[in-house]
Amino acid sequence: MLHIDDQGMLVSARVRPRRFPQIERQPLSEVKGIIVHQTGASSAQSSFNSYGNANANGAHFLIDKDGIIYQTASIFKRTNHVGSLQARCLAEYTCKPAEFKKSAKFPQASEISRMHAVEMLKSVPVRYPSNVDSIGIEIVGKPVLPPGKSAPEGATPRQREVYFNNNAVYEAVNAAQNGSLAWLVKELIHALRISETEVFRHPVVSRKNPSEASTASW
Ligand SMILES: [Zn+2]
Repeated sequence: MLHIDDQGMLVSARVRPRRFPQIERQPLSEVKGIIVHQTGASSAQSSFNSYGNANANGAHFLIDKDGIIYQTASIFKRTNHVGSLQARCLAEYTCKPAEFKKSAKFPQASEISRMHAVEMLKSVPVRYPSNVDSIGIEIVGKPVLPPGKSAPEGATPRQREVYFNNNAVYEAVNAAQNGSLAWLVKELIHALRISETEVFRHPVVSRKNPSEASTASW
């Protein structure tokens, strides 16, 4: 059984403490789910550098390329890792008639936060887990343009950025990372009594690059 100390840090030979108070927010009083991410960077150090900034965003754990698990925030604290929620009832075909209008599909940018507000009136498992009730696990990995894909010649920096965001695919999660992820998810589910059905890849719960963590398995 996983041992958790009075600071919310895991005590295990498999987890290295590397806590960044800068990414911690309010108390996390109940954990209903786990969200699996990829960092968007090619090294753990790159994420650590960003986590050290005041009010930085991050998640509770980070799994390096070699499978080493770092705990970057106390599991007694919230971290901002999820973003605006998508309507779970739309994805799972469980919306009641009155909910369809509220949960309009493919919302405009201005409507994303409205959808999130509607979702947050519900609780897990009717909505997806969010920052207020989930643990975040980051896996080191970045999006790259597939071979042969590049922004049109003469594109402006902004157009290149948009092209990249629309076409880049996250590099594959490797076997060492997936081995560590599977262990960590199993231990957290057990220790925190999380339902096995409440572990999600980030793009399932928020509007994100659909390839983020698509090759993660647990
Ligand atoms: Zn993410």
